This record gives sequence, structure tokens and C-alpha cells, in this order.
Amino acid sequence: MTTPLTEHDVRAELNAWLDNAWDPSIGLAAWRERLVSSGWAMPSWPVRWYGKGLPVWADKTVADEMRTAGVVGPPLGSGMSLAAPTLLEHATDDLNEQLLRPTLTGELRWCQLFSEPGAGSDLAGLTATATLDGDEWVVNGQKVWTTSAGHADMAMLVARTDWSAAKHHGISYFVLPMRQPGVEVRPIVQMNRHASFNEVFLTDARIPVGNLVGTLGDGWRIARTTLAHERTFATLRPPRYATDGPRHPVIVEAEAEAAEHFKTYIWYPQRAGRADLVVDRARARVVHTDPVVRQEIARLVSFALASEWTAARGRAARALGRPPGPEGSLGKLAASEVARRAARVHSLIAGAGALLTAGDDPSDAVIAEVLVSTPAQSIAGGTDEIQRNIIGEKILGLPREPSSDTDRPFRDHA
Ligand SMILES: Cc1cc2nc3c(=O)[nH]c(=O)nc-3n(C[C@H](O)[C@H](O)[C@H](O)COP(=O)(O)OP(=O)(O)OC[C@H]3O[C@@H](n4cnc5c(N)ncnc54)[C@H](O)[C@@H]3O)c2cc1C
Repeated sequence: MTTPLTEHDVRAELNAWLDNAWDPSIGLAAWRERLVSSGWAMPSWPVRWYGKGLPVWADKTVADEMRTAGVVGPPLGSGMSLAAPTLLEHATDDLNEQLLRPTLTGELRWCQLFSEPGAGSDLAGLTATATLDGDEWVVNGQKVWTTSAGHADMAMLVARTDWSAAKHHGISYFVLPMRQPGVEVRPIVQMNRHASFNEVFLTDARIPVGNLVGTLGDGWRIARTTLAHERTFATLRPPRYATDGPRHPVIVEAEAEAAEHFKTYIWYPQRAGRADLVVDRARARVVHTDPVVRQEIARLVSFALASEWTAARGRAARALGRPPGPEGSLGKLAASEVARRAARVHSLIAGAGALLTAGDDPSDAVIAEVLVSTPAQSIAGGTDEIQRNIIGEKILGLPREPSSDTDRPFRDHA
């Protein structure tokens, strides 16, 4: 019988490799090539795909160990969190050969072309259409709310390929190259003044025939893999490297890469409600002795802690190798509730001061930004109502919600 691998073993093996391999004097691209070739970038991935075939928990152990050692890891973003897991599960070897390595090195950046003006919660009602023309797919239609579309090289795209099939069956999943004339990206300015997402207009955009993920017409099932990973994904703050000592090239480049990435997500901590700030804010405004304020803070903080533990349970299940399931909806819904409650408690503490803008407010209008950003928490990645439907149907076993979807060809719906 072989002894099971422990976290200690993984750390020891990683550190033995780092002792020889980590060289902060080389550039980011050279370091990432070395990291990816070693299998330590994503150790749970198959050996064939730049991993070590270790259990899923090893990814977190290795990421934590590298962070503590000040070593640069794989890039952030939807390429690693959404595209790569979807490709690993569903794409052909040829496509994985082309895309996984440059995604791991950070050479390819990704966005997610799912939502449309008439298809958000009801994503399967999408109408962007892909038609085969020789050895290319030609795509026409409009996507919306696409985060980071302006920076992306590649997109996960769902498009209709068969209008005579029923709603959920005529959809296919593609990898669309973003940098081409048929793709026009227009930023949307939000009420919190950031412009993180975009409208994307697709006019005769071209996709090589080999960029179909999975089989034709199976796009709905594959999109659900991506969405399940999205409900478990939350990276709100950039990695920190040691600031003392020499400024090595790999660190300087990795910090610049993270800073660029986080420009899009700079308001995401505020979107989550900033429950971490309430106690200090109450003290600063000397309302921490008010019994109503104290009660509201206690309610918020205990709910936030309970929901953090729910999220930790989800992470533990993932670490054991279970695929993300409906429990992701519990965490997603709890995160919305924390954000809403935190916004209310911040308003109670700040009073009219919550309306001050940057420059007038000593705390740089963080609370004003919380108030206008928290609605996004309960929309992005599937709205609260949709999470409740999933919990009702998949966890509680309640009857399915009434649906007008039928087996009729989708063209008769539209
Ligand atoms: C910060 C942020 C980032 C995003 N990034 C991306 C991205 O990168 N790529 C992408 O493709 N999309 C992205 N989105 C879009 C997001 O996925 C959609 O906004 C979301 O799925 C909701 O769709 P919708 O906006 O069309 O609202 P709708 O679906 O029109 O919903 C309107 C209202 O009706 C309710 N409703 C709808 N259906 C039901 C139902 N069956 N039962 C009960 N209530 C229902 C909803 O809960 C909501 O309150 C992003 C959104 C946000 C806020």
C-alpha cells in the first residue's frame, strides 16, 4: 500500500524544486515558461497538460507556499479560472495544445462572451449566430456586459448554430479570437464611474473550424461547466511581493501585470460591501456605543462569518476533487446578502456622509462607492433569483419553476 501524499510532502517537493529553479533576475515570460514546464503552475492538472496529476488541494497548497516565499505564480483572470477548466474538460487535444500553455504563461488573456441584450438569466435564449463557411465559422450578433473585453485576446463564446433545434440544443461553444476586424468592443460606463465591462458587436467575425469546444450543439452543457466555475471564483486583491531588497525584473513585471488586471476589478472589494470596515467606521464616527448600530454590526459580522465558512466548505469540497456543484449558489447568494447588509450598515453609520464624493470625503468616498457597487454583486455570475431557483430545484428538490420552453425549433420562439 502506498502512503497518501500529504501537504508536507508537496511543500517539501516544491521547495526543493524552487531552491534550484527560482531566479528573480530573469524576466516574467522566461520564469513562467520554467514554471509551466515544471508542472508546478497548476499541479492538479494532468501531466500531459503541464500539471503533475496531484489532487486538487495541491493547487492551493502550492499557491500559498509560493506566495509566502515571494515567488511569482500563474496569471490571474478568467483564462485560468474559467476558460482553462472548461477546455480541460471538453476541448480536443489539438485545441488544448494551442491554448493551455499560453494561457498558463499569461500570454493569452480571456473574456466571456455569454450574455446578450435579450439573454442574461435566460442565457439559452441567445441569438448570436455562428454559420459554417468553408473551414471557418462566421459569427454575427451582439454580446453585452463582457468584463475585460478590451484587454482580451480570446473569448469563450456561446452562439446558436442550429435554429431548427430546440432552445437548449442548437447552441455551440467556441473559442473566438478577439483581435480581428469583425469584433468591435465598446466600453460601458457604470454608475460607480468605472468602465469594467463592454458591449461587443460581432459582424462576420471569424473562428477557425477547430475552435469548436466539445461537439456541435452541446454548447449549453459546456457553458454550464464555465458557469459552475464562475460561482466559485473570487479574487479581489492583487498578490503582494516583498517591497524591501532589490526590485528584481520578474517581480516588477508581475506587479505591472497584476496592476493592469486589477484596473478592471478595482471596485470589486466595494461591490462585496466592505463588511471589514464597519467596526472602524463606527468608532471613527463615534457611533459604536449606539445600541442600534452595535446590534446591526453584530448581525452583519456574524452573517458575514457564517457565509465565509460556507464558502470555505465549498473550497474544501473542491480541494477533495469534487466538481463545483449547486452549493456554489449558496455561497453566491450569501455573498449578495452580505454586500446588501453591509451597504445598509455603512449608511446607518455614515448618514449623509455616505453621499460624499472623493476629495470631500476623508475616506476617499469608499462608502459612496460601496452604495453604488453592491447591486452588481447580486447580478454578476447569475442573479439572486436564479441562485434561489437552483437551490430550490437542485438542493431542496422542489418542483421545477414553470417554463415556456418547449421542444419546438428555436426559430419558432424568436
Ligand atoms: C459586474 C458584472 C460583470 C459581468 N460580466 C459578464 C461577462 O464577463 N460576460 C458575460 O457574458 N456576462 C457578464 N455579466 C452579465 C450577467 O451574467 C447578467 O447581467 C446576468 O446573468 C443577468 O442577466 P440580465 O442582466 O440580462 O438580467 P435579466 O435576466 O433580464 O434579469 C432581470 C431581472 O429578472 C429576474 N429574473 C430573470 N429570470 C428569472 C427567473 N427565471 N426567475 C426569477 N427571476 C428572474 C432577475 O433575477 C433580475 O432581477 C456581468 C454582469 C455584472 C453585473
